[in-house]
Amino acid sequence: MPTSLFRPERVFFEKDALSYPLGEELYRYFRTQEVEVGFTGSHNRLTAIPGKTRVERFFRAKRTLVVGVRRSKRFETCRPSAHYQLPLATGCPGLCEYCYLLTNLGRSPYVRIYVNQEEILQTAEDYIRKRLPGITVFEGAATSDPLSVERYSGALARAITFFAGQPRGRFRFVTKFAEVDSLLPLRHGGATRFRFSINTPSIIGRYEHATATLAERLAAAGKVVAAGYPLGFMIAPIITGENWEQEYGGLFRELAPFAEITGLTFELITHRFTPRAKSAIREIFPRTKLPLEEGDRTFKWGQFGYGKYVYPKEVHNKIEAFFRSMIEKNFPHATIEYLV
Ligand code: SF4
Repeated sequence: MPTSLFRPERVFFEKDALSYPLGEELYRYFRTQEVEVGFTGSHNRLTAIPGKTRVERFFRAKRTLVVGVRRSKRFETCRPSAHYQLPLATGCPGLCEYCYLLTNLGRSPYVRIYVNQEEILQTAEDYIRKRLPGITVFEGAATSDPLSVERYSGALARAITFFAGQPRGRFRFVTKFAEVDSLLPLRHGGATRFRFSINTPSIIGRYEHATATLAERLAAAGKVVAAGYPLGFMIAPIITGENWEQEYGGLFRELAPFAEITGLTFELITHRFTPRAKSAIREIFPRTKLPLEEGDRTFKWGQFGYGKYVYPKEVHNKIEAFFRSMIEKNFPHATIEYLV
């Protein structure tokens, strides 16, 4: 069994979710499983998660699934990776210490899936129509890792099939999971790009709890390529420590089977943290070994009015030179979409 298979310990349904076939099917399924099943007034406000402390509630929430109806017809923008977010799920059962959801979802880290997928995709079609004749790109992993809940939601399968029929629409998502088998036989028309978020085995082992191993992610990437999907790798966060060049050199050797793929993309994100993220990480993972010393970093104001601690210029330049040369040398047909 994959190391990362998500099995919730409690599942809550919005009453309205049961009037959709998927909601009804999930309700019947979970009633036969050894999980607590209950109801919630709204998927946005779940107060029934047990635990005495915030930390305890955080870990219990990560094992809580909420099945709801997404009512908003507004999609958030999603620069630079896409035009809009495609809201297929919210939250993720993974426990990565540097997860952006630690601060984004704050006190609501439970995992939400939506049963009105046809309506969500209908809204996507409206967005595509508004931008014609341009191509509109949607990101499926802006507020979750949708592959982690695919076995319950089937949302990626529906989105992939939908985008295969949208000549001016594209779909992409990024994952640290590996259960791709159900997606391989789908008619995708090359409109969906799978990206696997990867790192060195020691970084994954130390910080990315409850996700797939590097070997599992790369095996899944191999299957995805064989099924004809466009592929990308996101290396994030890039962390420098002792021997980082050797360690990332080793990671690139693991990627050798993908060297000749046409259209391969890389997204590269150096490690950074906000003061808010640091305090959330320290609270939830008090023994974290993440490098979070402000004195080793440069403070940089971001476009959204808050700042973050990034690597100083000279370290960033070293990272950039190393990654660009590795990719140019070993992946002649690949594109680096961005390095930040
Ligand atoms: S897999 Fe992604 S979304 Fe899930 S906890 Fe890890 S970083 Fe967050």
